Amino acid sequence: MAEAKSVPVLFVSEPIVLPGMVVPIELDDAARAAVDAAQATPTGKLLIAPRLDDRYPTYGVIASIVQVGRIPGGGAAAVVRGESRAHIGSGTTGPGAALWVEVDEITAAEPTEDTKALAAEYKKLLLAMLQRREAWQIVDVVNKITDPSALADTAGYASYLSDVQKRQLLETEDVAARLQVLIEWTGDLLAEVEVNDKIAEDVRDGMEKTQKEFLLRQQLNAIRKELGEGEPDGSDDYRARVEAADLPEKVREAALREVGKLERSSEQSPEGGWIRTWLDTVLDLPWNTRTEDSTDLTAARDILDADHHGLDDVKDRIVEYLAVRSRRAQRGLQVVGGRGSGAVMVLAGPPGVGKTSLGESVARALGRKFVRVALGGVRDEAEIRGHRRTYVGALPGRIVRAIGEAGSMNPVVLLDEIDKVGSDYRGDPSAALLEVLDPAQNHTFRDHYLDLDLDLSDVVFLATANVIENIPSALLDRMELLQIDGYTEDDKVAIAREYLLPRQRDRAALTPEEVTVTDAALRKIAADYTREPGVRQFERLLAKALRKATTKLAASDEPLTIDEPDLVGYLGRPRFTPESAERTAVPGVATGLAVTGLGGDVLYIEAGSPGSEGVGESALILTGQLGDVMKESAQIALSYVRSHAEELGVDPAALNRKIHVHVPAGAVPKDGPSAGVTMVTALVSMATGRQVRSDVGMTGEVTLNGRVLPIGGVKQKLLAAQRAGLSTVFIPQRNEADLDDVPAEVLEALTVKPMTDVADIVAQALEPATEAATAAA
Ligand code: ADP
Repeated sequence: MAEAKSVPVLFVSEPIVLPGMVVPIELDDAARAAVDAAQATPTGKLLIAPRLDDRYPTYGVIASIVQVGRIPGGGAAAVVRGESRAHIGSGTTGPGAALWVEVDEITAAEPTEDTKALAAEYKKLLLAMLQRREAWQIVDVVNKITDPSALADTAGYASYLSDVQKRQLLETEDVAARLQVLIEWTGDLLAEVEVNDKIAEDVRDGMEKTQKEFLLRQQLNAIRKELGEGEPDGSDDYRARVEAADLPEKVREAALREVGKLERSSEQSPEGGWIRTWLDTVLDLPWNTRTEDSTDLTAARDILDADHHGLDDVKDRIVEYLAVRSRRAQRGLQVVGGRGSGAVMVLAGPPGVGKTSLGESVARALGRKFVRVALGGVRDEAEIRGHRRTYVGALPGRIVRAIGEAGSMNPVVLLDEIDKVGSDYRGDPSAALLEVLDPAQNHTFRDHYLDLDLDLSDVVFLATANVIENIPSALLDRMELLQIDGYTEDDKVAIAREYLLPRQRDRAALTPEEVTVTDAALRKIAADYTREPGVRQFERLLAKALRKATTKLAASDEPLTIDEPDLVGYLGRPRFTPESAERTAVPGVATGLAVTGLGGDVLYIEAGSPGSEGVGESALILTGQLGDVMKESAQIALSYVRSHAEELGVDPAALNRKIHVHVPAGAVPKDGPSAGVTMVTALVSMATGRQVRSDVGMTGEVTLNGRVLPIGGVKQKLLAAQRAGLSTVFIPQRNEADLDDVPAEVLEALTVKPMTDVADIVAQALEPATEAATAAA
């Protein structure tokens, strides 16, 4: 029933025009040409065809022009009425600038029983839809349409259908087929609208929120199942995991409560995320896992000896501590109790003396797991005790994490650098630590995040510190102090030979046959390449030398021996050479001894006079980042020298000038009274022009009338003096007892002179006056 004819064609992007529709179309130049061409034909018809991106259209609508004019805003427009479908044939030529095509017009088929029934069905759905959308005027229009094809083509107006769907309608010649797709689409849409309406209604009716969520969740689950998106590994089945886990009853109850909350919470809600993280934390903790202690004290001592050279006192103390612990445990007593009873051992000393590795040895000796908790720089209480769960990004504190890491409830926990814990507005971490370490409280330690009692009473806590004075005093109260001051050269050589060298050789995959390092070389590294109380740098340098050796071995298979003269080739030139001689070559410089966080060290005090006149207190300039106590001791020293000038052989005029005291290195803060005698010596040296003997070091507080008062850290200072190559050291008489702790090797190398009067120190420390010096002063 098609008849071929030729018409001008107008391509439009939208809307899709179906037969029966009357629509306005904006006219561009091409469209204008088509309209003009149509108007020039006797019938005035044109073809409206959809403009497609991907293909040439196969169907269009033959339309008549109702009106041509201007739309508001000025553009030209035509109102067209769609009349019948047409199949588009090939392009032809025609009059005017328009494109012409051949078309086969498709006249609508007569209604059949079949199409009438489909039309009736569609009409019902369409009316229901229109009523839902409250489009009452259109309801009337639709009601009056009886022709099935025309009814189907009203879908061109439906805003709920897409252009793709409308084009499909245009291209479906068969009326029954067209009605069928419309019934399907409209039916689906109606169902969806009904669900939406139902939900809206439910909400209006004040349906319980959780119930609604539950319904949606059921739907969601159904959809998931449909899509095959389950969680096959069951990792999300927290209920099963909690039930299967070995948990104390209280913990299980709390965990199940949270599981309940999780099941009720929505998949995407942040709360669900928090609960899962919390449950993971709880499930990861070794609630009922304990390791068996080995109680054999001889074996424990053997392990300590095997891991570390020397340190006999420290090892003795550790073994005593273990003995008391195991005895109390056997008697069923609380493991350790009460203040000051040594609940916690703290290993104090400079870096690299083996504090951390001793902690590991203790764990090994006990047969326990070992975890290290770094406390350096911790300022926030929450670091120890965790953040409350409501806090964004909340985490358990370090103690809980350490237990998790250890995987047992009775590990050895090393609280590293406990002296570097600070406190500020975020709370006081040391208060939390106190609770962790207190046997009366720590069996029910509560982390803010975990919010469950955690029994820490079986944990062995150890701590390390560089500077005891910096440990918060409340903590220090419950600690038993084990001081490790540093090693002598002999110790270092032994440690290197027996421990560091074998370990570094292993790391470099070398055998003792391939590389040997002589004791002389080791001693030279200790003396001239490092200047440290511990062996950290020493170990690094050994590693460096062995790396070089590996490279050499790759070139030739000859076994290597690294001896003292070879070191330059492996490590470069020595970094430390005795500098005391050079420093004290000018009058006014004296060598003191100090203890810093890095251990004992030598310290040069320089006194000078810029030459200008100065009076009283203001005449003293102090530099080198000195603390208040050290500044005062400089003033005391100057007052003493002024008031005892004659006795010290000083010309009073030499002191009535501006005086400058400097303590290098300028960038390192220093404090304490123990440089008093050194300051006096430097001032006298400056004022008399007599050099200080370069092999002399000294330490001691000084009073206004020259008495020498005792100081701390004698052992560390003497070790430092030996390292620096000094031969005579003056210490306060009242520190003589401390010499018992000093290794014999050090005492053999040094002449240690206990003194009571600073004038005697000055007399022995200064070089005799020379004529030149006297003249200069
Ligand atoms: P610290 O904790 O005091 O800074 P470390 O425990 O890290 O020091 O020790 C540094 C290195 O020196 C480690 O490899 C350690 O095994 C080693 N070490 C220190 N002292 C000894 C010793 N007495 N015997 C054997 N090795 C030691």
